Amino acid sequence: MTTIHECECAICQQSESHPDQAEHQLMNLFISRLDEQQRRWYAAIEAKKLGHGGSTLTAKITGLSAETIRRGRYELEGKLIDRPVDKVRKHGGGRKATEKKSLLSKQR
Ligand SMILES: [Zn+2]
Repeated sequence: MTTIHECECAICQQSESHPDQAEHQLMNLFISRLDEQQRRWYAAIEAKKLGHGGSTLTAKITGLSAETIRRGRYELEGKLIDRPVDKVRKHGGGRKATEKKSLLSKQR
């Protein structure tokens, strides 16, 4: 079950409709399908676009902590050097098959 965060920003709390409300809903829909690290990188990009106070506002929109968003910004600024690219693929079964094959070829 994926829960979608409801934006807590001032614009979404007001009763009149505003174009930002739909955008914030879309952001949270998108975020609900991302994994933990992708969430903070996406939030970090949005926070950067907003400029001053961006991390605080993005925290309200996404429900991520400002601390998490700052971490995302820090990681992006460091070009994600310590984040493995193939993290998701490692869980697949493909790698084991390759290991077995190389073992067999060694025995021959
Ligand atoms: Zn909002």
